[in-house]
Amino acid sequence: MLSDGEVQRVLVVVAHPDDVDFSAAGTIAGWTDAGIEVVYCIVTDGDAGGHDDDVPRSEIAPLRRKEQTAAAACVGVTDLRFLGYPDGRVEATLGLRKDLARVIRQVRPDRVVCPSPERNYARMGVSHPDHRAVGSAALDAVYPDARNPFAFAELRAEEGLEPWTVREVWLPGGPALNHYVDVTGTFDRKVAALRAHESQTGHMDKLEEFLRGWLARAAAQGGLPDGRLAEAFQVIDAG
Ligand SMILES: [Zn+2]
Repeated sequence: MLSDGEVQRVLVVVAHPDDVDFSAAGTIAGWTDAGIEVVYCIVTDGDAGGHDDDVPRSEIAPLRRKEQTAAAACVGVTDLRFLGYPDGRVEATLGLRKDLARVIRQVRPDRVVCPSPERNYARMGVSHPDHRAVGSAALDAVYPDARNPFAFAELRAEEGLEPWTVREVWLPGGPALNHYVDVTGTFDRKVAALRAHESQTGHMDKLEEFLRGWLARAAAQGGLPDGRLAEAFQVIDAG
């Protein structure tokens, strides 16, 4: 596994606004504190989300971009790329692979964070079809698309984007967890980031308790001492 000192840039690819904050915001706050540059690529605008029937649907996408931008600021991230795919209808198409390969070649990250493409039968909610599709396309973009000069050759010929090899992939909540990041010190910023998604979390009175319980269980699973909080990942050598 790469040490954080070997990492200059991280690209986080997610399906919806708020996904990154539930899954990895505490870890990301630690990375940006350490001087690592983190970029978010958000495939949809989450325009099928929200709970308030009185908000016209056309206002949801700009609102959710605004909320995600505010959430990102809580953990030191200011570079966000929204791809604008329709929420709830994402498929792992060649078009999405190309769009993600483009972002990888632009950002040139050492490490990519993306959802698992596999279904989790223990927790249905984490396996939203958009999450699985984005995970599948992102892994294909990491290997082979972004590194192969002859994959989507037009990225190089027309856009001047040279091939790039991502060295490591982190899957939050992946099927074979092997790494637990202690986020006790950044927990408050993770909570603040999630509260910034007002349209999604505004109705959750017990958000902080829920998160605390969830991250404490992850910490225990990872063998961290009592009282610690953790985010759990499957780290994959992609080099
Ligand atoms: Zn989601």
